[in-house]
Amino acid sequence: PHAAGAFVNAANTDYTQAANRDKQRAALTACTAQLGKKWPLIINGKKITDRAYIPSVNPAKPSQIIGSWARATVADAESAVAASVAAFPKWRSTPIDDRARILERAADLMESRRLELNSLLILEAGKPWIEADGDISEAIDFCRFYAVEMRKLAKPVVTQSVPGERCVQTWTPRGVGVAIAPWNFPLAILTGLVVAPLVAGNCVIMKPAEQTSVIGAVLMDLLVESGVPAGVLHFVPGFGEDVGAHLVGHPQVDFVAFTGSRAVGCKIWETAGKTQPGQQTLKKVVCEMGGKNALVIDNDADLDEAIPAALYSAFGFSGQKCSALSRLIVLDEVYDHFIERFVSACGSYPIGDPAQPGTILGPVIDADAQKKILGIIEQGKKEAKLAFQGTAPAEGYFVPATVFVNVKPEHSIAREEIFGPVVAVLRAKNLDEAFALVNGTDYALTGGLFSRSPKALERAQNEMLVGNLYLNRACTGAIVERHPFGGFKMSGGGTKAGGKGYLENFLFPRSVAENV
Ligand code: GLU
Repeated sequence: PHAAGAFVNAANTDYTQAANRDKQRAALTACTAQLGKKWPLIINGKKITDRAYIPSVNPAKPSQIIGSWARATVADAESAVAASVAAFPKWRSTPIDDRARILERAADLMESRRLELNSLLILEAGKPWIEADGDISEAIDFCRFYAVEMRKLAKPVVTQSVPGERCVQTWTPRGVGVAIAPWNFPLAILTGLVVAPLVAGNCVIMKPAEQTSVIGAVLMDLLVESGVPAGVLHFVPGFGEDVGAHLVGHPQVDFVAFTGSRAVGCKIWETAGKTQPGQQTLKKVVCEMGGKNALVIDNDADLDEAIPAALYSAFGFSGQKCSALSRLIVLDEVYDHFIERFVSACGSYPIGDPAQPGTILGPVIDADAQKKILGIIEQGKKEAKLAFQGTAPAEGYFVPATVFVNVKPEHSIAREEIFGPVVAVLRAKNLDEAFALVNGTDYALTGGLFSRSPKALERAQNEMLVGNLYLNRACTGAIVERHPFGGFKMSGGGTKAGGKGYLENFLFPRSVAENV
């Protein structure tokens, strides 16, 4: 039983049911038959088709073209800003309930097309079935959650009740923004970065990641079908270095909603901080970057729980989540026993084509990522001891699951974000040392502790300084509203996607006092 108007998370597909597996297979076949379309830009409601087209490929089978997307130019970015500036006053004064309903329609459409959308995520992003399905659920949740939250913000809050004066606080949208999204949650994160500012009354220029721009184009169509007016949302796929950078520095862009790498995030933060000639508003940056996430295994940890959780956190979607486990910090007494069990379990994850339902380890996103991760593995072999390496298919951008042991905190595999299926195992004398190791990186995104001791779990809450702390469970898979997601230090600016207060990033607070 849920209260009327309350938010409820979408349910994932139950693939243990043969009927659902059959439906997903049929959807994959139908999706494959329709690949290869050309996806234009959409600016101010108009399709722009005469641009250079960039092919997007299946990372598991790079010869398979998913579709081609029109590459936006700097002039296109300019037109999108101008159209947004013109559309903003009307959108700002559109009733909040109308805006919220558009998001709810989008959620309903996503839910009704779930298996079709899953297929596209499997093929364009190389996501295994359950990962694709979770991505769609999160996208649906973002739409419904932000709709509910915006309706709450619509009500002015009385600041103080005093005789003779009515005093309230209200919110007003910031203006025009750009959403720059990553490829690893190509629907969920893109949707979140777009619909949160939209429902808050802002105009948005959407720039999906290059690798997953077909999914971006499909989302654009779906949002238009849901009722987002022309002028309010634009589809401007392109390369970060030109279109993205131009938009971030544009004097009429009021905010940037970004998830991606540390290097790009820091650059955006810096560019947005420099006031341009003609700029009227200080830019807001919502910035989520990487992690170097650790799970601590206490001496008394329940290894039957800890091992599968660590395996999935490290290798689910080939470690390409910013929440993924990258460092296992194991206490001295249990170290040898844990390593033996963990390493022998590592081979149990099927690697291969994500279009097959049993696959857990799919490809990494592209040739550059594959090359970079394999290079880091070679570096790791010089620093620490290779304890496990799986095998990988020859075709496609695969990287085998890899585990290093006897890693020291100064080794680069213990410090740099890898974004691949690679785990560094470090040894700690006690919890003091373990927590110091956890906190001894530039990042603060996710982290966790497996322990049976209430005292240790309590200590972790105070001493493990990460944005999302997970106790006796995996460190990936944040659920909207339940686990507001985001970190600090070099992991991000401290905002929480899918959390209460997130919409306030896209609004200015105002106070109104009336003499009555
Ligand atoms: N929210 C996702 C999780 O909890 C990670 C998002 C990301 O990789 O950016 O696993």
